[in-house]
Amino acid sequence: ARARALAAHTGPGRTADGHPVALLLNVGSGDPGGSIDAEGIGLFRTEFLFLDRTTAPTFDEQRTAYANVFAHYPGRPVTIRTLDAGADKPLRFATHPDEPNPALGIRGYRTTRHHPDLLTTQLSAIASAAAAHTADVRVMAPMIATPTEAATFADAARSAGIPSVGVMIEIPAAALRAEAILAEVDFVSIGTNDLSQYTFAADRQLGDLADLLDPHQPALLTLIAMVAKAGASAGKPVGVCGEAAADPTLARIFTGLGVTSLSMSAPAIPTIRAALHTTTHAECVALAHRALT
Ligand code: PEP
Ligand code: MG
Repeated sequence: ARARALAAHTGPGRTADGHPVALLLNVGSGDPGGSIDAEGIGLFRTEFLFLDRTTAPTFDEQRTAYANVFAHYPGRPVTIRTLDAGADKPLRFATHPDEPNPALGIRGYRTTRHHPDLLTTQLSAIASAAAAHTADVRVMAPMIATPTEAATFADAARSAGIPSVGVMIEIPAAALRAEAILAEVDFVSIGTNDLSQYTFAADRQLGDLADLLDPHQPALLTLIAMVAKAGASAGKPVGVCGEAAADPTLARIFTGLGVTSLSMSAPAIPTIRAALHTTTHAECVALAHRALT
């Protein structure tokens, strides 16, 4: 019984009846959290390398930073997200200062429209760092809206030599076209922070609108269910990496909807592991069904 209790607090994520759900770490700083009991990194936010500077970090600076992360995760998955500049993460050298609606403007992957070099340098730095390490390196783009954008990004990443390519699903249009997007990439990861913002037309930074941004809402869960279903028919992984993945009830609901990994900040991992360990997959499916309606 003691061994079982201990197993429930360490090791890979799974439901009480053994259905696997990878528990991954969200990282947004130079500390890759290698000592944390996670199965890998599900979201490495690279903005910290770019913020508070007047020019972009060089290839060498980036290569060193990515290599440091990969070194901490030998043989384990590490998903690097390409630069998500703009809106709540403005950059001095790449964000237009007077956009009327920054959240609807040139942000995330859209930054490559005016600064294609930022993406190509970043992808080559990731590929070069990956070549020297055994981490299972994946790369994904933020703020993808269409299958065409997903295909263009996948092309760029594969040309740079990165074999595993995905995109974030955080715009409702992308959720609606998940099947076509999954035909272009190897995996997707749902960003519930932005997906709720854009689904409810409610600024994620406005505390006054917290009720609209509540990720338990059936409209958001319906979009997530669509993406999970598209992933299951394509046989490709569908993760959740927004803050909602760190909520024990939502973690069970996402599992019931067919999400295959949950990525969160370090302190949430033991709680979510325990929540899954104490719930069967059938119970997760029943919870998901109820939440959707
Ligand atoms: C999200 O939008 O849910 C997400 C994980 O990305 P970020 O919070 O960095 O926008
Ligand atoms: Mg986002």
